[in-house]
Amino acid sequence: MPEKTSPTTDALGRSLKDLRISVIDKCNFRCTYCMPKEIFGNDYAFLPETELLSFDEIIRITNAFAKLGVEKIRITGGEPLLRKNLSQLIAALTEIPGIKDIALTTNGILLPKRAVKLKEAGLKRVNISLDAIEDDVFTEINGRGVPIRPVLKGIEAAQKAGLQVKINMVVKKGMNESQILPMARFFKGKDIILRYIEFMDVGNHNGWDLKNVISKKQIIKQINEEMPLEAAEENYYGEVASRFRYKDGGGEIGVISSVTDSFCGTCTRIRLSADGKLYTCLFASSGYDIRGKLREGLTEEQLERNLASLWHRRTDRYSDERAEKKNENRKKIEMSYIGG
Ligand code: SAM
Ligand code: SF4
Ligand code: SF4
Repeated sequence: MPEKTSPTTDALGRSLKDLRISVIDKCNFRCTYCMPKEIFGNDYAFLPETELLSFDEIIRITNAFAKLGVEKIRITGGEPLLRKNLSQLIAALTEIPGIKDIALTTNGILLPKRAVKLKEAGLKRVNISLDAIEDDVFTEINGRGVPIRPVLKGIEAAQKAGLQVKINMVVKKGMNESQILPMARFFKGKDIILRYIEFMDVGNHNGWDLKNVISKKQIIKQINEEMPLEAAEENYYGEVASRFRYKDGGGEIGVISSVTDSFCGTCTRIRLSADGKLYTCLFASSGYDIRGKLREGLTEEQLERNLASLWHRRTDRYSDERAEKKNENRKKIEMSYIGG
């Protein structure tokens, strides 16, 4: 049941709690399922710097959202560590009253250079994406031939800097199902939560087909046969990952099952793209141009009212509709643009 305590609820009674901010659309990887290099090639038109939201604009928007109930921020991209002076933005975001938690999602390879500064700026947590633990699989997936070593170095650097680390692994049939067990074995007992993510139909270029989705059930069954698991309770309302504990005390894993067991009913997230469009769903076809409004001279009061009204009108429940087979052939935004 939707929680009723937030001042801002949408048309389906869901609170506004999380803001995901994409700070850049560029990336130093070309993951086959996200930014395939055949499409995101050398002549791909990424956003020019003037089109990106400035830090001041991001801070204004976050401030207004915080007044409407947002408590959690996730910084994402593209590859967010490619955005210049990101630590300065994080430091400013931590000062906003009402913001209780800031996390970052990254492919990790720039963390050896940045982890200490990010921690000093007030960042507490990073989610590092790693889809395989064997070089021959990983080099194929990231489209840049990068082996796993630089990512492992990034994980080490983050831990050493005092950042809490979670690992995200997208699982796609034919790509990396061979890595489900090796990844579990590698991270078990290391005080790092590994989260498996079902391959989703975001964007228009990743050739998604339900046949390529490895379900939460299949993932858990495989791991449980070798390393027995038990279900664990939700950490907080609307947590997207189902949690499982190793029975021998080796820590826990999570599975994000947006395809086979969707969770739109508790979705409290809004997304801000790098060029200032707001999306009330990861699978939306169009966004609300808040950058345009800000640059026209919107006051703080008007900004807050606009954001509240956008959330009040929200009826999105794409993944639930997918399960009901109601949303075929819809044009969607790209994951690298909106950041997941
Ligand atoms: N570049 C950063 C990274 O890879 O962590 C941040 C942006 S990336 C778009 C955010 C997350 O979305 C990554 O964990 C990535 O694996 C995930 N992702 C991208 N495309 C996906 C898809 N089609 N299905 C599920 N997850 C996806
Ligand atoms: Fe880049 Fe992240 Fe997409 Fe991979 S998943 S291409 S690292 S944005
Ligand atoms: Fe939220 Fe849209 Fe995902 Fe449903 S499909 S959980 S509404 S982002």
